[in-house]
Amino acid sequence: MSSLNNCGHLMKLLNRRIRFSSHIATRCAAWHQQRTFLKQFITYFQEIKTNSRTFSTSCAKFSSKDITGDHETQKIQLTSFTDRTHLCGSLTVSDVDHSVVLCGWVDRSSKLFLKLYDWTGQVQIVVPDNMAIMIKSLDRESVLEVKGTVRMRPEHQRRSDVGSGEVEISPSEIKVLNTCDSHLPFYPTCVTYNKVTSDVKMEHRYLDIRSVQMQKVLRLRSSFIMKAREFLCNSHGFVDVETPTLFRKTPGGAKEFLVPTRHKGRFYSLPQSPQQFKQLLMIGGIDRYFQVARCYRDETQKPDRQPEFTQLDIEMAFTSQTHIMRLIEGLLHHCWPKAAGQLPETFPVMTYDEALRNYGSDKPDTRFDMKLKDLSDIVPNCGVELLETEETVTALRIPQGQRYFSKKDLDILCKPINEDDKTFEVLGKKRLETAAHIEQKGLVIRNPTDYNMFWVVDFPLFLPKEDEDGRLVSGAVESAHHPFTAPVQDDLELVYSDPTKVRSQHYDLVLNGNEIGGGSVRIHDAKLQKYILSDILKEDTSELDHLLKALGLGCPPHAGIALGLDRLFAILSGVENIKDVIAFPKSYMGLCPMSKAPSLLSESDLIRYHIAPKSS
Ligand code: ASP
Repeated sequence: MSSLNNCGHLMKLLNRRIRFSSHIATRCAAWHQQRTFLKQFITYFQEIKTNSRTFSTSCAKFSSKDITGDHETQKIQLTSFTDRTHLCGSLTVSDVDHSVVLCGWVDRSSKLFLKLYDWTGQVQIVVPDNMAIMIKSLDRESVLEVKGTVRMRPEHQRRSDVGSGEVEISPSEIKVLNTCDSHLPFYPTCVTYNKVTSDVKMEHRYLDIRSVQMQKVLRLRSSFIMKAREFLCNSHGFVDVETPTLFRKTPGGAKEFLVPTRHKGRFYSLPQSPQQFKQLLMIGGIDRYFQVARCYRDETQKPDRQPEFTQLDIEMAFTSQTHIMRLIEGLLHHCWPKAAGQLPETFPVMTYDEALRNYGSDKPDTRFDMKLKDLSDIVPNCGVELLETEETVTALRIPQGQRYFSKKDLDILCKPINEDDKTFEVLGKKRLETAAHIEQKGLVIRNPTDYNMFWVVDFPLFLPKEDEDGRLVSGAVESAHHPFTAPVQDDLELVYSDPTKVRSQHYDLVLNGNEIGGGSVRIHDAKLQKYILSDILKEDTSELDHLLKALGLGCPPHAGIALGLDRLFAILSGVENIKDVIAFPKSYMGLCPMSKAPSLLSESDLIRYHIAPKSS
């Protein structure tokens, strides 16, 4: 039901709601510097269209079979070059009477049984009388090698739904490879594992990695990346090239980490991405490059960011925006886990304007509707004085709002906003907050097993510049993507006459409200690149002399993209925070709770790096 064809009903509700909460009508700035006075209001009406199904929100969505399935079909040898013959959770009735060697950790033990586990699951070992005392004294998580014979479990104990659930081991030898302290901060196989705080898990990450959840995530990562390499290298001739992580400062690189050197006053910077190197590789004739690249950004104050993260970085010469889009669709098809369902052959495309107008975000979550509605045409004579004078009126329609929002909830949601806030984006955030609020009340409107993947295109080349705190810097612009992005060919003249109107050849890949990839066709003309850097972006081009010089020495037209692998795996694994898909992540403040990095340096170290200790 559209708000526009229910005008009468809508206006009644509007009236009521505005009297109820008039402070939500707020002056604010339009996102593209057109300072229109917009009124925002929230209407509460209409029955919800979404099915209220319940979904599992368990952290790891796929079973280990979903991830290891390929190992089975491709006959990957999971115990080669070791003394093991089988993995704990892999035994079936077909192994009965066979001799096996298993290695793993003690899950639990008694006088009668010992449960041994590894990443594939656990197996029951029947404890012989002569080993009972030794086994009973073993602490959980001790490491064992068990030699024995597979036999059927007694009928009432058989479980066909778990690996090795129908069989057990009659051991001939149990070797203790290592013992384990009796007091662990938590047990990775214990039912209380999910209640352990993230801080404790991070401090003992090696134990956490033993958990089923972490095992699935890390193995999913590995399998996905292996398939990406297969697709890129074996099927399409891409070349995997490693680029330096000790690099120099780049213009506007406020988010870069610095590395002191023995050369007085000189610092390396850790690159935010291999952007310059991949373009230089194009100039060097590596016409199809990729890398699973570690990137560094000093953004630890932002939630759900990591100072180091991984991108699947890609660049191609003699290509176009459309070709890159088809390449990524093909790649994701090839790598996508079967258990996550099928992706469409090509992904839908949305323009940047549509995304902002309809969802208030350039990376909208399209798993639910609740689009923003432009009501400017119907308010001029609506009888609500507050609205009639406004040029633009935009509404967010909340399904079943009256049912899910109390007056207090509404007051919180409708907090006044700042002059500098970007109108559409404010409404976009309200849209997400509203969905989260409704879901908290028990109605699931975003199916976590839906994967809504689409492209956002037709970005402007430049946006109004913001400072670190998101405040507009008067009269200045910044690149919407990065300064190496090419303008749309037809807009080339505008670069010199009216840069804010230039459209760019930049494309983002969005999945369930997250930007999981972004790229562009690059500028391959040295003069244009220099003009944009110095005249428009006001950057010091001497920092980029090497690149500007190279662009003039036979640079082919080229384009590329980078996929944010951590975010992609977090969505696929159904976890909220990217640190849950990184083996050794940093904390919110950028610290390593396990090793306590970054560490303090001794005075002699500081002197070696010409960093004089502060005199007190
Ligand atoms: N280097 C860019 C980034 O990290 C991606 C690209 O343009 O290829 O966002």
